[in-house]
Amino acid sequence: MQAMVLNRLRTPLEWTVLPDRLPGPGQIRIEVAACGVCRTDLHVVDGELPDPVVPIIPGHEIVGRIDAIGPDVEGLTMGERVGVPWLGHTCGVCPYCRMQRENLCDHPVFTGYTRDGGFATATIADARFAFPLGEVGSDVSLAPLLCAGLIGWRSLTIAGDGKSLGLYGFGAAAHIIAQVARRQGRSVFAFTRPGDAVTQAFARTLGAAWAGGSNEAPPEQLDAAIIFATVGELVPRALKAVRKGGRVVCAGIHMSDIPSFPYALLWEERQLLSVANLTRQDGVDFLRQASQMGIVTHSTIYPLRNANEALADLRAGRFDGAAVLVP
Ligand SMILES: [Zn+2]
Ligand SMILES: [Zn+2]
Repeated sequence: MQAMVLNRLRTPLEWTVLPDRLPGPGQIRIEVAACGVCRTDLHVVDGELPDPVVPIIPGHEIVGRIDAIGPDVEGLTMGERVGVPWLGHTCGVCPYCRMQRENLCDHPVFTGYTRDGGFATATIADARFAFPLGEVGSDVSLAPLLCAGLIGWRSLTIAGDGKSLGLYGFGAAAHIIAQVARRQGRSVFAFTRPGDAVTQAFARTLGAAWAGGSNEAPPEQLDAAIIFATVGELVPRALKAVRKGGRVVCAGIHMSDIPSFPYALLWEERQLLSVANLTRQDGVDFLRQASQMGIVTHSTIYPLRNANEALADLRAGRFDGAAVLVP
């Protein structure tokens, strides 16, 4: 197999030929057909997440076909198309796992962070954490659903059922969740980097009622806002934009420090929440919804060997929608 490997933090990934791997008990091997590039991959490369593991193969929006099955795997077949998300394994016995909150598991394994991921021609996954994807939709179009879509979905659920929804940071996740929110009959207000007219126009094509800079006030008070950008300054701005009792959800795994702000922005029962990881039930719920709703993802495709270019373009905001690597 070949892979783009992170050998040392804050250095470019390196094209590497590795021995083929065999799935262990409960595992499957997947021939990777597409793997999305997520903001979290940048945090992994930059060493911004705790207890980094290197060398590591990043990538946790994996679409591919099963080409080997280990012992004790049930319900999956050779050649079946599956998706592998960020949540790679949970312990099943900690208090969080037992209260149906496996996203908060005390002993998790994360794909592309603490276990090798999908920036490769093949990967090994825990069979119980792989989602059967069926045959509808291309591999490239499905890949961004595995994290941008899934984390966005969990954020949207936690944001509540308010009608007017602000999305701060209109990247891969927001471009999917804007479509979901529209299908649910909500109004979407898209906030981009100030002056980013191209992304604002992109948001309008996806049904946003309004699009502007993150330094602007929306034309009406919002019921809820989701912050996908990794910028802590957006927290007080979003609190300012939501009505009494409104919710602000921080969707990212990492964010710059939140500046101090007057208590008045939080008062009147506004709520500030964060989203961590996903549960398998989120995946089941979201993937079913996404296919029923006909969600369309916009992707820029890069050959696997050009993973560093994809990461640099993501960092610089050089494309709209998602980036997807293809071996
Ligand atoms: Zn656990
Ligand atoms: Zn991700």
